[in-house]
Amino acid sequence: MLPYGRQLIEDDDIDAVVKQLRSDWLTQGPAVAKFEEALCELTGARYAVAVSSGTAALHLAALAAGVRPGDAGLTSDVTFVASANCIRYAGGVPGLVDVDPTTGHMSMTALREAIDQLRQKGVRPRVIVPVDFSGSVADLEGVRAVASEVGARVIEDAAHSLGATYLDQQGAVVKAGSCTHSDFAILSFHPVKHITTGEGGAVTTNDEGAYKALLELRTHGITKDPAKLKQVDGPWYYEQQSLGYHYRLTDVQCALGVSQARKLGRFVERRRALAARYDAAFSRAPLAQVLEPLAVSSRTRSAYHLYVVRLTPRADEPLESVARRRRALYDGLRERGIAPQVHYIPVHRQPDFVDSGLSAGVFAGADAYYAGCLSLPMFPGMADSDVDRVVEVVGSLLAS
Ligand SMILES: *Cc1c(COP(=O)(O)O)cnc(C)c1O
Repeated sequence: MLPYGRQLIEDDDIDAVVKQLRSDWLTQGPAVAKFEEALCELTGARYAVAVSSGTAALHLAALAAGVRPGDAGLTSDVTFVASANCIRYAGGVPGLVDVDPTTGHMSMTALREAIDQLRQKGVRPRVIVPVDFSGSVADLEGVRAVASEVGARVIEDAAHSLGATYLDQQGAVVKAGSCTHSDFAILSFHPVKHITTGEGGAVTTNDEGAYKALLELRTHGITKDPAKLKQVDGPWYYEQQSLGYHYRLTDVQCALGVSQARKLGRFVERRRALAARYDAAFSRAPLAQVLEPLAVSSRTRSAYHLYVVRLTPRADEPLESVARRRRALYDGLRERGIAPQVHYIPVHRQPDFVDSGLSAGVFAGADAYYAGCLSLPMFPGMADSDVDRVVEVVGSLLAS
């Protein structure tokens, strides 16, 4: 089976892990800081805090952004559930924002509407979590402008976009995860993401105070900082000054991360080349008439975590019919040894959000997107001939 995504582990990655296993440090050692330094370099952010998963990164970022029980937060309806759950972990109430079906990104119109609806209830969102869907960067400057009107913090969910850039309104090239137009960004190092540590994640920020808070939250809320201690009882002394978590990443994982981080540029270039090959094939008739790749704004260079195509609806075609055709394409690809995926089931459809009353609203963009979307294989170890085979099978399935 050709999967939709998979890691690329090379001999030097394995050597780095073995070397770490023979060292004194399996966890809480120097590899963590080395990996964090590499992440600062890759993103351009001043601080990075490595944690046990992207989800843990979202949780800690929500706490550091000031989300407290009862607070409202907003995120995109088309994302992995963790983007919304982080607000709930902090005791907050997530509001879901509809997406632009052509890009999969949070719709700015829908964001303003969501904020107006909250305002009518006398509520301001504490945090907004835009998602760099599929690898192109969300309109972070737009989100930040809206956020600053209501005093909300911005967490960029950059789990899809490590290695991506965008051109900002000043004409500067800005890296995903740099926190140039956000307060925090989060990364994930799950095997399908750009670089992997098995499981793993990180929060980046340029705010020193928030950075120190994140370090404590990662380790039980414990500090040894002499300037912060309420008393000192000996060299062994530490204090838990708030309730934190055990969200550390091990040195073994960080050693793998450091080795993988060196390859990000090459991996992302490969993803872009594969995307260009798909794009060229899908821009030609007859496929150009029946499906379209997800749109990528000209201001962003995608890191292509995903390569998403959408079935073009026929005139007056109901969404259920588009969804049936998508299902047939999904099944047909699997029968021929290709395993696509659907990213994502809109969060508002998840039973836990429905049952808890957190999914109210109309999500026409998300529903239209979801009916026809399919993520085709996209990972740096893929050959050009794999792309050609996927294109050929898609073509034969859609022609019949
Ligand atoms: C992968 C992912 C996460 C979290 O990832 P984990 O490391 O699996 O916890 C969060 N948001 C998005 C959009 C993701 O794709």
